[in-house]
Amino acid sequence: MSSYFAYTRVSTEKQGEGVSLVEQRAAIQALAARMGVEITRWFEERQTAAKKGRPVFGEMMRLLRSGRADGLLMHRIDRSARNLRDWVAVGDLADDGIDVRFVIDQVDLNTRGGRITADIQAVIAADYVRNLREESLKGIYGRYKQGLLPLPAPIGYLDCGGGKPKEIDPLKGPLVEEAFELYATGEYSLESLRQKMHERGLRNTRDGPITKNNIAHILRNRFYAGTLVYKRTGELFDGQHAALVTKKLFETVQGRLNRKAVKGISKHNFLYRRLLRCALCSRFMVGERQKGRVYYRCHNRACETTTVREDVLESHIQQRLRSIKLDDELVDEIVREAESLVQAEKRESETNRRTQAASLAKAKSQLSSLTAAFVSREIDQLSYDVTKADLIERIEALDGTDGKPEADLLDEVRSVLELFRSAQLSYESGDRESKLDTVKSTCSNLTVARREPSVELRNPFRRAASSSCVLSGAPDRGGSRTLCPKQLARLAIDEAIRREEERRQNDDL
Ligand SMILES: [Zn+2]
Repeated sequence: MSSYFAYTRVSTEKQGEGVSLVEQRAAIQALAARMGVEITRWFEERQTAAKKGRPVFGEMMRLLRSGRADGLLMHRIDRSARNLRDWVAVGDLADDGIDVRFVIDQVDLNTRGGRITADIQAVIAADYVRNLREESLKGIYGRYKQGLLPLPAPIGYLDCGGGKPKEIDPLKGPLVEEAFELYATGEYSLESLRQKMHERGLRNTRDGPITKNNIAHILRNRFYAGTLVYKRTGELFDGQHAALVTKKLFETVQGRLNRKAVKGISKHNFLYRRLLRCALCSRFMVGERQKGRVYYRCHNRACETTTVREDVLESHIQQRLRSIKLDDELVDEIVREAESLVQAEKRESETNRRTQAASLAKAKSQLSSLTAAFVSREIDQLSYDVTKADLIERIEALDGTDGKPEADLLDEVRSVLELFRSAQLSYESGDRESKLDTVKSTCSNLTVARREPSVELRNPFRRAASSSCVLSGAPDRGGSRTLCPKQLARLAIDEAIRREEERRQNDDL
């Protein structure tokens, strides 16, 4: 008896016309019985159709290509090959002699007519999915505009179906309100509030114990004050649901949360906490206070590094920052260089984007003319297949890199370059916050080996410091390089990009 694989996919999107997993399985089983073949393995995918990356599909194709089965049974084409790449892969299987069958679409892939029918259906399916994705985004945005949250109810509310506003959970709702009120008194930390609310009986949405993170999320969530936030754009909408807390209480709590965050740093943490590492064992040095002085100690007993005094470290940092001070005129020149570099890059990427959009449109129209030409028998199977595969590859490459417009970098570049003027001053006369800020934005690495601190500067400051003896008029000892404004401008742009990247990552957390 021939052995066949069977593949089913259930979409998590609500499409109204989906066929359930049970129905798909039954239909495939019946087909296998009719054909008199044995299903040796079931592959089941549960994913959103439009999302790329189907691990089960990929694994199955790999096994099929290595000859683990004689054929493949699927429910129907638009469920089985919802993007073109999948479809090309399925077509290749048929070419390699694997018997591919569908329950609904009775096409024989071994005939040319069957392949054309199937190909056209696959193209239609891919287009349908693209459409669906756009429609569903429109639908979600529409819900926000109506004041409805198209997401599961947060703790303290109950879901009442898609078209209706969330209702206050009679048990958890009042507890959430109480949490806001307690936190607003200023007598609770997030952790002590978590304990208190746990005792009061507040549980998470799955009725499990509430975490500190849950508490933080609740206190930050505008939904409780009656407002919806559409995350993609940051737009705010008035919700139809009843608020649990007043806007005033919500803002008081936000103020407390923000103050706590700032206070937390200055009160309990040492300034260089998680910034200073032991150079020998690369652990973080831990702050401690002794007789009014602050020390950082490597807590690895086997390590030769002992401690460093904070003021020793600081005078070392000061010395480094002094070495990057440039005169105003030079900084101005670097800023001008950076401006023209960023502008030039912007023009170039704009041109690239336009070219790319044009190529994409062209490739898509070529694909449809190709299909038309093939259907009307103007070209043969071989040239059709080759050209089609080529076009599809091009379309996918272009489609995937369809870039979003780049953020304006110039402000960030300027603030990097400003540090050439201000770093030393804001470190030496600044408060803890600006000290920390300066260190984080100019230094990439603070270490201590035994008792010796060492500070590595970020570029463009490192580059400037290594040439500073030339600037200060000291004799040019062999090896030191002169400063080139253009080069510093480039380094500053790289640094600005790194900063924005870092900020994006922090925002994602
Ligand atoms: Zn150490």
